[in-house]
Amino acid sequence: MFDRFEAEADAILAEQIRLCEIAAPTGQESKRADAVASALESLGLDVQRDAVGNVIAHGERQPRRPLILSAHLDTVFGPDQSCRVARPGEANPYRRDAIVPTNEYHAPGISDAAAGLAAMLAVARALSGTPAAEQIVYAATVGEEGLGDLRGARHLFASEMGRRARAFITIDHSDAAAIVNAGIGSRRFRVQFQGRGGHSWGHFGRYNPAFALAAAADRLAETEVVSEPRTTFNIGVVRGGETVNAIPERAEAEVDLRSESASALDELERVLRDAVEAGHQRELARRSEAALAPSLAPIGDRPAGVTPADNELVQAARRAIESESLTPRLIAASTDANAAIAAGVPAIAMSWGGRSDNQHSVREWFDPTDRARSLRVLSRILVELSQPDAERG
Ligand SMILES: [Zn+2]
Repeated sequence: MFDRFEAEADAILAEQIRLCEIAAPTGQESKRADAVASALESLGLDVQRDAVGNVIAHGERQPRRPLILSAHLDTVFGPDQSCRVARPGEANPYRRDAIVPTNEYHAPGISDAAAGLAAMLAVARALSGTPAAEQIVYAATVGEEGLGDLRGARHLFASEMGRRARAFITIDHSDAAAIVNAGIGSRRFRVQFQGRGGHSWGHFGRYNPAFALAAAADRLAETEVVSEPRTTFNIGVVRGGETVNAIPERAEAEVDLRSESASALDELERVLRDAVEAGHQRELARRSEAALAPSLAPIGDRPAGVTPADNELVQAARRAIESESLTPRLIAASTDANAAIAAGVPAIAMSWGGRSDNQHSVREWFDPTDRARSLRVLSRILVELSQPDAERG
């Protein structure tokens, strides 16, 4: 049954290119969603659009405990970014003076996640009409990237169908041997310090939000984090102030905290809150004037969590990868699977196959060589989990 992936390689690639060229910035996925929905409809599936714009499809009856195969619709690129796909031998519009090499296809979003959507549709076609298909729900999600904050997947796993799911597989990376079974959690905050402002000479001595921010940032920078579970922090954006000879009225920073462990993330959030308060107090103590308390506004929250290595889903993924003579590896990443794991549904992220690199950059490219291998892996996992005896175990 899985031989067809090699025979259909050109059609799968054509579908991937077609989807890639329909722009789908986070929050503006509807055109691409239409294209995915009609591809699923052409397989005779029952296709719905949920309240946030996810495309959800299943066979004649909705399975009792669905196996959900998924890919995300959105890209990190804005509406003005060209996503035309440059083919082998063409001048590469994304790299000056370069010709696209043999077998490579260059465009922003060509792999992440146009390759994921193409893989989902190829598997849906291959399994169409088989007993396994009756257990599967296909889901193309919105809002996976950046400030989308897993909006589509969260909505899916807040729904009754999502919570009933037996397993969730999102197709969202390039490494054919890797199983993402750990979700890296992240919390993001906009931290703001405020004062009255004033003239740098005439009002010297007033509370200076820039100094308060600097003191808080220094305190955060000194924080020691554990490497196991891996935990990191970053100040990615700093802004505020008007001109060099004025005390700023405002200074703010955007902070990104990440960890494989939910409790380490809780602890890191406490550290950040303490650092902000300490920076504020430090500046207050140095100046002659009081100021508003600093604010800390959440701008992102992705849950952390793990699907254990001995879970049936991870085990099935291992066997499927081994059957392609590859050695499976378990890794951590931040994907739609985080939302499933947080809802108690076993979840992994798997490869879209082929070779690809430079995701989230205009220099992104994809080479379909060996894509069939990863499509067989996805199909095998679904077929194995859909066996009636597997359900009993
Ligand atoms: Zn992705």
